[in-house]
Amino acid sequence: MEAIRLSEYERVVFFTGAGMSAECGVPTYRGRGGIWAQYRWEEYACQDAFDANPVKVLDFHEQRRGKVLGCQPHSGHHHLAALQAAHPSISIVTQNTDGMHQRAGATVAAELHGSLWRLRCACGSREDLAAASYATRTCAVCGATLRPDITWFGDGVNAEVFGRAQSLIERAQLFVAVGTSGIVYPAAGMIPLARQAGARMIEVNVDDTELSPLFTERLRGAAGELLPRLFLA
Ligand code: NAD
Ligand code: ZN
Repeated sequence: MEAIRLSEYERVVFFTGAGMSAECGVPTYRGRGGIWAQYRWEEYACQDAFDANPVKVLDFHEQRRGKVLGCQPHSGHHHLAALQAAHPSISIVTQNTDGMHQRAGATVAAELHGSLWRLRCACGSREDLAAASYATRTCAVCGATLRPDITWFGDGVNAEVFGRAQSLIERAQLFVAVGTSGIVYPAAGMIPLARQAGARMIEVNVDDTELSPLFTERLRGAAGELLPRLFLA
């Protein structure tokens, strides 16, 4: 396929999933070697588990942060950051919580499932952190134990963040999905939304997915290899 010149588009959205981080070695959730094959999410990744044993749940998330910190963004992450520097109109919407895009220097418009690098409180306070260990586990405002600002099993999604992603996608002329299986809803709904909006639809994935038929161009290969080769400033 011929390389795509992003200068030809005013509004571009890259929509990324766990496959974007696969080449970094970030542990996956499902499948072989996946976190949920080793740990029961009922004990580590839901509000009930946190209410029952916040220390155990926070320890688990610190361990995840340490693993992610030991991984580095790949050439695809660096390439997206460089494209964005050339064209600030490029938006990144991600399902990943690992912060890899930001570590490569990109700006992320919407983290649909939150971030491993933030904690939050029912009273609303947020805290940005960038080390494996939390600087504090207690809310400075109300004294409650902070919880990871990520979407756990049984949590609702963040309506404000989803709204921001939707409005970007509704206006996108070019929509590129990278490394997402399109089976985790409501996030996967961003793909039909882009299609309805009339965007040029490109899928970058090592395999076919459930939603591949919604894409007019299906590029098969690894994100770290295909993104630098096929998307030019
Ligand atoms: P998924 O695990 O359901 O699907 C990953 C997709 O990436 C698959 O279609 C696979 O074929 C593809 N893929 C694998 N390696 C690739 C590569 N090198 N290049 C391109 N494509 C590749 O992921 P999902 O659709 O993002 O849904 C999983 C959910 O779990 C998401 O909601 C996400 O929040 C969460 N999650 C996040 C992380 C992370 O932050 N890194 C990791 C695992 C899961
Ligand atoms: Zn608080």
